[in-house]
Amino acid sequence: MPSHRFANWVRAVGSSEVLLGGVCTDLFSLLLPGECAGCSSPAVGGVCDQCLAECVPPRGPSCPTCGASWQPTSHRTLGCGRCARFGRPFAFEAAVSFWEYQGAARRIVHAFKYHARRDVLRPLGVRMARSARAASVVAQGQRLLVVPVPARRKSRRRRGYDQAVDLATGVASVLRAPLEREALRRRRQPALSQAETRGDFRRRQLRGSFSARPGRVLGRTVLLVDDVMSTGATVDAAARALGLAGAQAVFVLVLAG
Ligand SMILES: [Zn+2]
Ligand SMILES: [Zn+2]
Repeated sequence: MPSHRFANWVRAVGSSEVLLGGVCTDLFSLLLPGECAGCSSPAVGGVCDQCLAECVPPRGPSCPTCGASWQPTSHRTLGCGRCARFGRPFAFEAAVSFWEYQGAARRIVHAFKYHARRDVLRPLGVRMARSARAASVVAQGQRLLVVPVPARRKSRRRRGYDQAVDLATGVASVLRAPLEREALRRRRQPALSQAETRGDFRRRQLRGSFSARPGRVLGRTVLLVDDVMSTGATVDAAARALGLAGAQAVFVLVLAG
């Protein structure tokens, strides 16, 4: 090939690589083994089979409200131990955790939160939505709207992405439901006043930490998606804001909790 034609060919390949770069990266990540986000061994699709087998749902019977393991000994009038500790009814109808937050599940969450493993999020959203465990919250009528719990601005900026948005994108693609990533906003954090204790401050902080846009959620049944649920206070605050903005009902699906 004459040298000028060779140079043109190189330029053409170069520009098509730029154009197709995103698509190729996605395809290659599916086909070529990368590193497992849970144990660093070679894995196709971001998580190896052994880690996936280790990620299990909360053991035993689940609380019908918050999805936590429900030990008969922890039974209280408000439900399971987590519901009892929360002290008042949650603002959502029901929550489901796909995995228990421990072992490999904890390492995978750590990997996408602190080690830039964004690649695992969308496939995990797909897995969550397809699981039998999620059936009770994903089959909530035709007007289901998928809404991610937005991360704090500071963490989003540091990470360069919002993990709940990526998980929710995977969930919405399985359900063929609309994804509404602008429905919820984080509010600016209030300052600690001298008169209140740390505990009071934390509760006040969470209660008013979200605002929802009525135009986006009015009359809709919302499936709220987040990565981790611990006390339930964050998803409760998000569900409360959605309810105030006119959402008909809020169900919750989290990756681990
Ligand atoms: Zn692994
Ligand atoms: Zn509960």
